[in-house]
Amino acid sequence: MAAKRDYYEVLGISKSATPEEIKKAYRQNAKKYHPDVNKEDANAEEKFKEVAEAYEILSDTQKKAAYDQYGHDAFDPNRMGAGGFGGADFGGAGGFGDIFDLLFGGAGGGQRRRSGPQRGADKEARLDISFEDAVFGMEKDMEMMRVENCSKCGGSGAEPGSKPKVCPQCQGAGQVRSVQSTPFGRFETVHPCGQCNGEGKIIEKPCAACKGRGKVKKKRHISVRIPAGIDTGSRLRIQSEGEEGIMGGPPGDLYIIIVVRPHARFQRDGYTLICSQEIDFVQATLGAEIEIPLLGGDQHKLIIPEGTQPGDIITVKNKGIPHLNSHRSGDLKVLVNVKIPTRLSKRQKELLAGFFNENEDKEANKKGLFDKLKDAMG
Ligand SMILES: [Zn+2]
Ligand SMILES: [Zn+2]
Repeated sequence: MAAKRDYYEVLGISKSATPEEIKKAYRQNAKKYHPDVNKEDANAEEKFKEVAEAYEILSDTQKKAAYDQYGHDAFDPNRMGAGGFGGADFGGAGGFGDIFDLLFGGAGGGQRRRSGPQRGADKEARLDISFEDAVFGMEKDMEMMRVENCSKCGGSGAEPGSKPKVCPQCQGAGQVRSVQSTPFGRFETVHPCGQCNGEGKIIEKPCAACKGRGKVKKKRHISVRIPAGIDTGSRLRIQSEGEEGIMGGPPGDLYIIIVVRPHARFQRDGYTLICSQEIDFVQATLGAEIEIPLLGGDQHKLIIPEGTQPGDIITVKNKGIPHLNSHRSGDLKVLVNVKIPTRLSKRQKELLAGFFNENEDKEANKKGLFDKLKDAMG
């Protein structure tokens, strides 16, 4: 995993970007890296998550202020629990292990010795939902695997009835010191004990359920409430559904990243719902009332005004996307497509020809002096 990129860099904006600019940059990037559009690009999903995360922070005034001041450290879940990340601690076996596990997910953890209770790691999962579910909201059941303390051995890794033995090599410290003499002086280095893998103890009789790891993968059923009006790239935080805490620490959180599948008829732009509707040229010319399906299955009587042109947009108020956490809705915009008939009877053709001749005569009468002169001169 590469180092975390700067959120402003991720969105391609400057630190002085306005909320509108942030939103715009987010939309462009979310579209660009949408996993459905980028099926062949294996990195698209990662980039997409990166973009969603950057937007979540930068679109929130408080989080943005914290980020501007402290950078990524502002949201480091282990900052409080790890007992000092200072440079001095970094080289120590214990401290390094913590950071290492944090950076690399720490899921399979339990291998390294820890100093005290720690919060479990946060997790991310992608959830694909239908266009309708995104618009109307719903409850969705998810199955997630998570690493939990083994219930058989209580997380010790030792078969019940037996106890882990203190490591003879490091006397339980989990780390060993070695002194090196160099032309520049004596250097003392500290590294994890090789015999116990930095655990400080050795399990002679590993627990059969977890093979001595103290951790097991368990399937969890999580019910996720999708709020109406959510869009691709939104992050939902499910508290305490991340990885289990260490030594009695609280669990991390689960972040669900929403990916909305496209709809056959409707598209959305923010809270505006867009669809196209075909009408025939008589309806376009004379005006008409037609039934159109709304998202969700209801029918709506759409009034086509007389003289509607191909490409005209008819707006239906309040039939768009409901606003998140409010009772308002956006509008539905119907793009009118006029169908030109291709198979006409002889009689229909005559009628139309007659109609257009009459039209031309009228046009001729409206011609100005200049056009008449031009006609006369051939
Ligand atoms: Zn076990
Ligand atoms: Zn040891």
